[in-house]
Amino acid sequence: MTFINKWLRSDIQNIKAYHVPKSENMIKLDAMESPFLVPKDLMKPYLTYLSEAVLNRYPNPGAEEVQQTLRSLMDIPNELGVLLGNGSDELIQLMALACETDDTILSVEPSFVMYEMIAKFTRLNYQGVLLDDNFEINLDGTLNEIKRTQPKLIFIAYPNNPTGNAFDRESIHTIINESEALVVVDEAYYAYSEDSFLNEVANYPNLVLLRTISKIGFAGLRLGLLIGSQDTIRELDKLRLPYNINNLTQASAKFLLKGKDRIVANANIIINERQRLFDELTAMASLKVFPSQANFLLIKVDDAKVLFEFLKANGILVKSFAMNPQLSNCIRVTVGDPSENNEFLEQIKSYYG
Ligand SMILES: *Cc1c(COP(=O)(O)O)cnc(C)c1O
Repeated sequence: MTFINKWLRSDIQNIKAYHVPKSENMIKLDAMESPFLVPKDLMKPYLTYLSEAVLNRYPNPGAEEVQQTLRSLMDIPNELGVLLGNGSDELIQLMALACETDDTILSVEPSFVMYEMIAKFTRLNYQGVLLDDNFEINLDGTLNEIKRTQPKLIFIAYPNNPTGNAFDRESIHTIINESEALVVVDEAYYAYSEDSFLNEVANYPNLVLLRTISKIGFAGLRLGLLIGSQDTIRELDKLRLPYNINNLTQASAKFLLKGKDRIVANANIIINERQRLFDELTAMASLKVFPSQANFLLIKVDDAKVLFEFLKANGILVKSFAMNPQLSNCIRVTVGDPSENNEFLEQIKSYYG
């Protein structure tokens, strides 16, 4: 037995590490990244701006200018508070740290795997409630589990990852109203969705919203935000590690996120491409494509494992859910740029051809 095996919490030893597959030289359609780089004509002024970052000093602790930039980009009302995280994952962890030892985190399944992983890291209980066959919230079942387990935190991804749908709004309202939990509506895919709970945050003291810039072109910057009442944000801010948003991320965000028109235009390209992919794939008899409000499609195929390996051998990386009983034989494909999507369609057609 090695030192670390004797030393480490046994529940951590039993966790399977978050797996990131190799993707060099592949068309990367596995992680909901945006295909769009910083445009060439912005590169020079961006680098000039970055060169003014003062790297021998700690970052601005509150990153107020970054907050202001995000407020404009996302139309966040001034009366709400905003807390910044090193990715929204860090904010999920921060809320878990705010819980008591025996508390429970509840979410629906299948959904974003970090809710359960972070519950484990922070020694909280985790309760998943299965979605129904259409990937919709099972409201009665969820309310029963809320009554039974009295969760402290409830995570609802809206739209949901990996299913792509936005749940019934009324069900979410009922969950917020009927539980004592802090309900976190995770809008990582807000830019691709017709709907949001942003205008509801002021109406519910127990509702907060998570957003991120990871899915709109800036996954590499690691910047997420929690939106809630000023009271809630002020208290949760005590748990934030000082200087969690580094100088280069702050400078990049201030410069790049002012380009709202470009960010919206890029999102619209993806939304149109999503429709094109949906139509072409739906026309293929061997596939069932689920409707999506996000920048990816969930597709049920005959054999996800074989198709995944075929695509990989042909230079396209997607996500396979071959092992998940609720998603048996499903793959999840991020919507890429038009040429990436064409290549994906071509490979799919040759596979089924
Ligand atoms: C991708 C994703 C996140 C992660 O966001 P980061 O800001 O990159 O940490 C959070 N929630 C959901 C539902 C996601 O799909």
